[in-house]
Amino acid sequence: MGRVVFGVALGCAVVTCAIAAVLVGRRARSQRKWRRAVEVLREFEDGCATSIGRLKQVVDAMAVEMHAGLASDGGSKLKMLLSFIDSLPNGNEIGTYYALDLGGTNFRVLRVRLGGKGSMISSPQVERQAIPRELMSGTSEDLFDFIAMKLKQFVEQEDDASEKKPDEEKVLGFTFSFPIRQMSVSSGILIKWTKGFSVEDAVGKDVARCLEEAMTKAGLNVRVTALVNDTVGTLALAHYYDEDTVAAVIFGTGTNACYVERTDAIIKCQGLLTNSGGMVVNMEWGNFWSSHLPRTSYDIALDDESPNCNDQGFEKMISGMYLGDIARRVLYRMAQESDIFGNGAYNLSIRFILRTPLMAAMHEDDSPDLREVGRILTENLQMPDVSLKARRLVVRVCDVVTRRAARLAAAGIVGILKKIGRDGSGGVASGRTKGRPRRTVVAIEGGLYANYSMFREYLNEAVAEILGEEVAQNVVLRVTEDGSGIGAALLAAAYSSNR
Ligand code: ADP
Ligand code: MG
Repeated sequence: MGRVVFGVALGCAVVTCAIAAVLVGRRARSQRKWRRAVEVLREFEDGCATSIGRLKQVVDAMAVEMHAGLASDGGSKLKMLLSFIDSLPNGNEIGTYYALDLGGTNFRVLRVRLGGKGSMISSPQVERQAIPRELMSGTSEDLFDFIAMKLKQFVEQEDDASEKKPDEEKVLGFTFSFPIRQMSVSSGILIKWTKGFSVEDAVGKDVARCLEEAMTKAGLNVRVTALVNDTVGTLALAHYYDEDTVAAVIFGTGTNACYVERTDAIIKCQGLLTNSGGMVVNMEWGNFWSSHLPRTSYDIALDDESPNCNDQGFEKMISGMYLGDIARRVLYRMAQESDIFGNGAYNLSIRFILRTPLMAAMHEDDSPDLREVGRILTENLQMPDVSLKARRLVVRVCDVVTRRAARLAAAGIVGILKKIGRDGSGGVASGRTKGRPRRTVVAIEGGLYANYSMFREYLNEAVAEILGEEVAQNVVLRVTEDGSGIGAALLAAAYSSNR
C-alpha cells in the first residue's frame, strides 16, 4: 500500500516538475522574444537620437546649404528658387480677388474681399474639388480645362449674387505647389511634378499661361497676376496681419519653407534689384540633406522602395506622408523578431497601411488601458490580440518617430533664422531694433502641425531649446490656416496695382 502511495506521489511530482519545466521554458522563451522586441525599439531609439549638439549641427548644415543654393543653381540640394515677390501684402489692398490652390489631390477655388487698412479678411468663399485620378496623369490641356471649368462655375455662381459685372476682368492668384522656375511674379516653368502627379507634357511649360489659355477658352476674363507656391501664400497671409513675419513653413503631406532674403545675398542672380532690397525665396527644403541627420535602416528602406529614391530626404523623415510608414516598418521588424503582436501581425508588412493620422491617434491615447491603440490595431490593422504591454511598445515607437521628426523640423527652422541673423548668434545688438529685442514671426501651415499636438509640442520645445530661453522669447511660431489660398489672393491684389 505504502509503495503504491509512494509511486503515485512520485508520478505526480514528476508530472508537476515536467509541467513546471514546460512553463518555465515557455516563460523564458517568451521573455527572450520580448527582450528581442525591446531591443529593436532600443536600437531604433539610439538611431534616432537628436541631442542638442546634433540639432545644432543640423542648424549649421541648413544655413550652409542655403548659402550654397543661393550661390549657384545646382550648388546644393536646396533649390532656393526665386519667387520674384519683393513686397508682401501689408493690409492696404482693396477689392475682390480670386485664388486657385492646386497642390495635392484636391484643389480649391476661393474669393476674398479686401477692405484696406489692414482689415480682417472676412471668411472667404471657398470651394473644394477633387482632381479626378485620370487627370493627374493625363494631358496638360485636359487638366487645365478641368480646372478652368470649375473656376467658371464658381465665378458664375458668385456673380449671380454679387455686384460685379460678369464680363469685368477678374484678378487671380494661382497657388501651384510643385517646383517651378519662376520668370516673374506671374509666370513660371514647371520643373517636375511631385505628390502623385505626372502630366508629362506640362513639364517645361509656363503653368500660369496654361491656366490663362484654358480660362480664355472657357470664356472667362481672368488675369493671373501672381503665381506662387503654398509656402509663399502662407507667408503673404501671415505678413498681412503681422509685418514681423519673415518665413513660412508647411508641415502637411509634404514639407517646404520660404523666407525673405536680402537680394545681395542671392549671388546666383547678380545685379538683381528690387524696391525693398529683399525677395521671397522658396527653399524646396524637403530635399535638404546632411550627414548629421540621424538616419536609420528603416529610413533607408523607405527611400529605396519609394518612387523618388534619393530625393526629398528631409521630407521623408519629417512629413505627414511618411511618419506612419516609418513607425509601421519598426513595428514590422519587432513582429519578425517575436510574436508579441499575436495574430494579424503580417498586416504590418503592407506599405502605408498605418497612415500618420492613425499613428497620431495611437500616440495621443491617454487612456490607462490604451483603448484607442487597441481599437486602431484591431479595426485598421486587423491585429486584435495585442496585449497592453505590447500596445505600450507601439506608443513608444510612435513617440520616437514623431519626436525625431519634430526636432529636426525645429532645427530646420532655426537654420533659416541663423541664415538671416535672427537666431541670436550675432550677439545681442544684432537682435535689437531701437533698443528693443526684435520680434521674429514664422508662419506655419499644414495638417501635421495643426492636428498632431505631440508633433507641435516637440517642435516648439526644440526651437526654444536650440535658441535658448532669451532669444526664443522673441521668436513666435504662428499657425496660419488657409494661408496657401488666401495668401495667393492677397498677392494677386498686391501685384495688380490696386494697393
Ligand atoms: P496637404 O499637405 O496635402 O496640402 P494638409 O496640410 O491638410 O494637406 O495636410 C494633410 C496631411 O497632414 C495628411 O497627409 C497627414 O499626413 C497629416 N495629418 C492630417 N491630420 C492629421 C492628424 N490628425 N494627425 C497627424 N497628421 C495628420
Ligand atoms: Mg497644403
